[in-house]
Amino acid sequence: MPESTITMALAGNPNAGKTTLFNDLTGARQHVGNYPGVTVDYKTGSLRHQGKEIVITDLPGTYSMTAYSAEELVARDYLIRERPAVVINIVDASNLERNLYLTCQLLELGIPIVIALNMMDVAKDRGIEIAVEKLARLIETPVVPVVARSGVGVKDLLDAAVALAAEHHAWRPRVISYGEDVDAALAEMSAAIEKRGFLTDSYPPRYTAVKLLENDEQLANLSAATDPNFTRELIERMEKLSEHTQKTLDVYPEAVIADHRYGYIKSIIRQGVITRAYDSSRLYASDKIDKVLTHRLLGPLMMLAILYALYTFTFSWSEYPVAWLEAGIGAISDMVSARLPDGLIKSLVVSGIIEGVGGVFGFVPLIMFMFFGIAILEDSGYLARVAFMMDRVFRIFGLHGSSVMPFIVSGGIAGGCAVPGVMATRTLRSPKERLATLLTVPFMNCGAKVPVLALLIGAFFSEHQARNMFLFTMLAWIMALITAKLLRLTVLRGEPTPFVMELPPYRFPTLRGLLIHTWERTWQYIKKAGTVILAISIVLWALMTFPKLDAASRDGFDRERDAAKVVFTQEIQDEAASEREDISETGQSLRDKLAAIDAREAEAGLEYSVAGRLGRGFEPISRWAGFDWRTNIALLGGVAAKEVIVSTLGTAYSMGDIDPDDSRSLASRLQADPGWNPVTAAAVLVFIMFYAPCFVTVVCIARESSWKWAAFSVCFNTVCAFLLAAAVFQIGAFLG
Ligand code: GDP
Ligand code: MG
Repeated sequence: MPESTITMALAGNPNAGKTTLFNDLTGARQHVGNYPGVTVDYKTGSLRHQGKEIVITDLPGTYSMTAYSAEELVARDYLIRERPAVVINIVDASNLERNLYLTCQLLELGIPIVIALNMMDVAKDRGIEIAVEKLARLIETPVVPVVARSGVGVKDLLDAAVALAAEHHAWRPRVISYGEDVDAALAEMSAAIEKRGFLTDSYPPRYTAVKLLENDEQLANLSAATDPNFTRELIERMEKLSEHTQKTLDVYPEAVIADHRYGYIKSIIRQGVITRAYDSSRLYASDKIDKVLTHRLLGPLMMLAILYALYTFTFSWSEYPVAWLEAGIGAISDMVSARLPDGLIKSLVVSGIIEGVGGVFGFVPLIMFMFFGIAILEDSGYLARVAFMMDRVFRIFGLHGSSVMPFIVSGGIAGGCAVPGVMATRTLRSPKERLATLLTVPFMNCGAKVPVLALLIGAFFSEHQARNMFLFTMLAWIMALITAKLLRLTVLRGEPTPFVMELPPYRFPTLRGLLIHTWERTWQYIKKAGTVILAISIVLWALMTFPKLDAASRDGFDRERDAAKVVFTQEIQDEAASEREDISETGQSLRDKLAAIDAREAEAGLEYSVAGRLGRGFEPISRWAGFDWRTNIALLGGVAAKEVIVSTLGTAYSMGDIDPDDSRSLASRLQADPGWNPVTAAAVLVFIMFYAPCFVTVVCIARESSWKWAAFSVCFNTVCAFLLAAAVFQIGAFLG
């Protein structure tokens, strides 16, 4: 590089405006690179200022310099390895305190920095005034106010950065006090590090000691690899301190360090750096609302009330549309079966396609109302509050604040999908917390399970549909959290990682936004019913139809029919002779008899089919949970996709009576079936909620972790679900 080239790096929290500033500075002269070894992009660009060539790198956004995530690792690694002449640290002026946490760590590293105080316009709008010079003096670092979005102050920023680079001074690590105990340990450790010259080429000695105390994995590994004996010495000293702080303060040194950093920042800000121009409480309607909605006690209660209201709304409003749609589908089914001649084609169209796919379509209004309610929660900003409140609960169960969103996306409120839920776990930094989340999100009630729940709740617990839906949702959460805790105590044991979360301000949702969100998700559901579910329904129909009943059995049923007809003819003759009874009544009784024989033949056929044999095969086990062979068929189908459970039950229970006079809904068919009662329904419900994730989810889990964990998920969930279902059934049967 020519003498006059200056290297700079941009560092800051996510959303502080780094990319905006980077584009301001470099315009089109930039290119994207991939940081070696990890999949984090970084951009480099160049510009000329005061006749000097400047090369700037846009580092990934980070909250902290402790390497919890790949992003943070890259940002830190870059600074250590490339040692840029100046770091421009972008700070969001409207959120000063939190943003300065990273600044504090950059200062501790000692690298020359200039603070770009961005979003000055936002701060001003919020009535926040910042005494820039005072801040610069107190924090002993150049501070330049900018508005990256409009380019205000960017020239001054570059001037300051170039001036700092021209000083060419060595790194000057800032020493921040972490309190007596930690300081004493640090002094000892850094003295030893310095004496040994341990890693001093890259890191200031005290910095190495601090990072080790913060349990920084990367640095711990590096130091173990460089000098194992010495590392052991350091770790011994560390453990002594850790024991001490735990005894005296009930926390690990990490927490003490973080507290003191915030203390350092507060002490600066409190000295009149920030003044609020006018009463901020009036401006912060959001904060005021949050005082109530995220209150420690009131908040969770309101959250439950809001969820309950959502289910009430969904079930009461969708009741009529669902009934109309079901009636419509029933009418279509009747019409088609009246037109088509008896035979395979009719069976495929009526039992396979209309009953199968129609069963899934019937729930479109319910799904739509539910998505509408969730869109209101999401668009208003309330969902972020739910995540915020759940975070407290999640920590207890060994999960992370960032786990909440994957749970909600997977159907934590009902009606999501585990596939994007599994993807959403990517935001988790710790691999163990991520796996624990990944393995438990399929317990949520995704959009495909909702129809099954609605069907069974509607058929057997119709008294309090909304309340029961609510209870089953709670059950899903409880089960997921307990499982997560178990995993975190056994196969996924490890330390929790810290979590910072920002609450977006409340917004009034727009009708347009709500409708778009609702429609997008509903359309996904409809599309899936019309494609994937259609295909699976046809395959399952075939499995339930072939091989056909053997000729001997069919002849048997034909003979029964003939016999019934003979009896009928006899009766008619008798009645004609005696001229007593109404002939039409006798006709009706013949029709009933023939229908009963048809139903028995259909059932025998279903039992004889591939699916029927599979279902029967599982019966010796499934009996413990009260599932008969027909339910087994539906549950096996559900492994392909959960929607199929409804459609397979529809097909299995419609094969019995392809009778044009009888288009009862599936719910009433199940109610009438002697094999079903509220106890069986509850056992089936529990099993469906928790057994193996659907095929696509399993593939996703494998892709995001490994096939080993995907297989674990299938087996573990199914065993858990079965034990629970069996418990429900046995206890239910015992209590009558
Ligand atoms: P990054 O995550 O740090 O790269 O942040 P971005 O550059 O993507 O900026 C985040 C958001 O803040 C974008 O919507 C920007 O338009 C906005 N933004 C950035 N700088 C300013 C600013 O000075 N004023 C205002 N009002 N918005 C800004
Ligand atoms: Mg960016």
